[in-house]
Amino acid sequence: MIDLSGKSALVTGASRGIGRAIATTLASAGARVACNGRNEELLREVVDEIQGNGGDAFPAPFDVAEEDAAKELIQACVTEFGSLDILVNNAGITRDNLFLRMTREQWQAVINTNLTGPYNVLRAAARPMLRQRSGSIVNVSSVTARIGNAGQANYAAAKAGLNGMSLSLAREFAPRNVRVNVVAPGLVDTDMLAALPENALQEILERVPLKRLAKPAEIASLVAFLASDLAGYITGQIFAVDGGLAMG
Ligand code: NAP
Repeated sequence: MIDLSGKSALVTGASRGIGRAIATTLASAGARVACNGRNEELLREVVDEIQGNGGDAFPAPFDVAEEDAAKELIQACVTEFGSLDILVNNAGITRDNLFLRMTREQWQAVINTNLTGPYNVLRAAARPMLRQRSGSIVNVSSVTARIGNAGQANYAAAKAGLNGMSLSLAREFAPRNVRVNVVAPGLVDTDMLAALPENALQEILERVPLKRLAKPAEIASLVAFLASDLAGYITGQIFAVDGGLAMG
């Protein structure tokens, strides 16, 4: 059993999909969880679900792409917690288009949320972890960073950037016992896939050896393990949870 009792966690993008599963999984393992997202109504639902199951959570609404808002809310979370043990950078968006049709807005929106977002959050959240000389950071990337995807140059660039940033931070933070790892999902059954046309989804599914989508809980279980002391000797790793898609 993964035991996170006594630990505090911040999960970005916890209002829906993978982030919601991560927040509820961490909470059911005993962590106190700050749930981030922009939709306050959905965040209330997640927090109510966690509390209804006997867990401890509170909403932390802010846009990860907005540096000042992120800094202010994260400082408030750390004050509320008294420490921060687990940080999961999960919030992400897609704005797919073929490269020559991709607008500057589509490019920038994805870079701002998926790459600068984790940068903003880490700038505010890493210091207390480094100060207390313990912590686990899990960044949620994508199989796309490794194998690419037509129509996702912006998304692949942001996620590959996140991978590189994570490996650099793993080296920087290791002397302070703060671990940094990446979970790279393949196709997961969430709202994000709703943007894909049905035929495109079927085409990619054909290439997945396990021939099905992942459930959000199948990503959350690895995140919970990496967040726990059971993974105390694991840092600087990129873990694919993709049904074998990136096997080559
Ligand atoms: P999702 O269902 O669309 O949920 C995205 C979450 O991110 C929502 O909670 C959303 O909350 C939040 N979010 C988006 N922009 C935000 C911002 N600027 N500030 C704060 N929160 C923000 O997506 P998902 O499938 O769960 O994806 C979660 C992560 O997994 C993403 O990083 C994604 O790239 C990655 N991933 C997903 C798949 C997949 O197949 N689904 C595959 C590989 C990787 P609000 O709407 O409340 O803002």
